[in-house]
Amino acid sequence: MTESATPSRIILIGPPGAGKGTQAARLAERLGVPAISTGDIFRANVAQRTELGQQAQRYMDAGEYVPDEVTNAMVADRLAAEDASGGFLLDGYPRTEAQVAELDRMLESSGASIDVVLELTADTDELVTRLLGRAAEQNRSDDTEPVIRRRLEVYSEQTAPLVTLYDERGLLVRVDGLGTVDEVTQRILDALG
Ligand code: AMP
Repeated sequence: MTESATPSRIILIGPPGAGKGTQAARLAERLGVPAISTGDIFRANVAQRTELGQQAQRYMDAGEYVPDEVTNAMVADRLAAEDASGGFLLDGYPRTEAQVAELDRMLESSGASIDVVLELTADTDELVTRLLGRAAEQNRSDDTEPVIRRRLEVYSEQTAPLVTLYDERGLLVRVDGLGTVDEVTQRILDALG
């Protein structure tokens, strides 16, 4: 992260229920870059019954990750759009080491690089409580308790190691996701400098 400029290519990483989606939307608006949420794109495709939606749905409903090839192709497409040329906030991508490698390739080919990786943290009990609350409010098909537990497991097996990887690259900033939405947004803005 450079001292002077506000970072414009950001990855938001953290377990399900940490508040990534809410914070991504707010930050993107503040920073003037698009929030790109792979979960939202998949859900929109499921709702519209596209071929991509059909490929993704059974994985999502089981709390598993959609295969890397499918996810990577979708993100490559989205990042090639004009509005992402000056920066973006990735919410929920990359989630596997193969996705990190692919993102590296995509950025390299356009001469860009990630400025900062923001990790939102929260303890497991808090996450489960939040996700069950959201299930009641939003009726998401992957917010039932067994699927929530599976999603948390998949996160710690496949995605948590990416935090270490980005930390080793010197890109990681860790922010406590506990508190009101406003408090967490302020904490993130302070951390981004
Ligand atoms: P989210 O809204 O980010 O929690 O994503 C909801 C679901 O979409 C996940 O549980 C996965 O099934 C799928 N998904 C979202 N992003 C990815 C990704 N980067 N890789 C694989 N699957 C993903």
